[in-house]
Amino acid sequence: MSAQVEPAEALRQIAFQLERSGAPTYRVRAFRNAAEVLDGLKPGELDKRIAAGTLEALKGIGSTTAEVITQAAAGEQPGYLARLLDEQPPPTERTGLLAALRGDCHTHSDWSDGGSPPREMAEAARALGHEWIALTDHSPRLTVANGLSAERLRDQLELIDALNGELAPFRILTGIEVDILDDGSLDQREDLLGRLDVVVASVHSKLRMPAGPMTKRMMAAVRNPNVDVLGHCTGRLLSGGRGRRPESTFDARAVFGACLAEGVAVEINCRPERRDPPTKLLRLAAAMGCLFAIDTDAHAPGQLDWQGNGTSRAEDAGLTADRVINTATADDFLARR
Ligand SMILES: [Zn+2]
Ligand SMILES: [Zn+2]
Repeated sequence: MSAQVEPAEALRQIAFQLERSGAPTYRVRAFRNAAEVLDGLKPGELDKRIAAGTLEALKGIGSTTAEVITQAAAGEQPGYLARLLDEQPPPTERTGLLAALRGDCHTHSDWSDGGSPPREMAEAARALGHEWIALTDHSPRLTVANGLSAERLRDQLELIDALNGELAPFRILTGIEVDILDDGSLDQREDLLGRLDVVVASVHSKLRMPAGPMTKRMMAAVRNPNVDVLGHCTGRLLSGGRGRRPESTFDARAVFGACLAEGVAVEINCRPERRDPPTKLLRLAAAMGCLFAIDTDAHAPGQLDWQGNGTSRAEDAGLTADRVINTATADDFLARR
């Protein structure tokens, strides 16, 4: 990363580093908003405002962001960014399985509970060297996460179509993280699920259901022909703002057996507070011959850089690139459906 960056880029780099370190969205929003304000200025206006000292008169620019902008515009590395880069672990080194990944099957935008619009997620993924991401916002029942109705999902498909025209050869695959309802049915219309490129099915409710019904519930979802990935299978939370949560109990051999039979990938969820499946289950699914998806479940652009959390665990479990579906090009990935 060079020391000299454009003001909007400096703001976005700060946001990215904060997100990568797991900062909550509200801490990051000021920087992303300010970058957007700069994008919207008329040519020459930024220089005029810096000279006149009127940056902070712009809605969305405060003292901290104004200082970053002024320093970047003067050709300096903003102090805020320099301090952050000092504190952060160095950029993730892309070797081994991590280098083989081309995409990410599970990401969220501000259409549900993510912090950034789809375009910003896609641009950050492209900057990381990804060839594609699947945008998998939540389904309607997850109201706390502003899940998408059928109508909003159709609107999102139109947006993605337009974005793909602009971002090519980078590609946003259409998708959903669909709730697995109590009876194993899915929380979105089947005809819509059938139109999507990637369907991640996850349990988000009644996580403490007894093992018998939970096994049936998960197997029913996995057997739905529209499902591609079984998301964070145990639902455990190790730490973080939502506290701790134990693993759901189910017959893992039966559920992974269904994944194997149906060609559904078992997700290795890279979020630091999830690291799901736990090692014992990960090794079981690996030994059974399942396919995997190594997904960030990113809710902000900087979180797209979390794939290393999953690839190191996958390598420890003996997995190679041919077992991981997001090592495929977008075309090959779509051809497998
Ligand atoms: Zn989820
Ligand atoms: Zn998710």
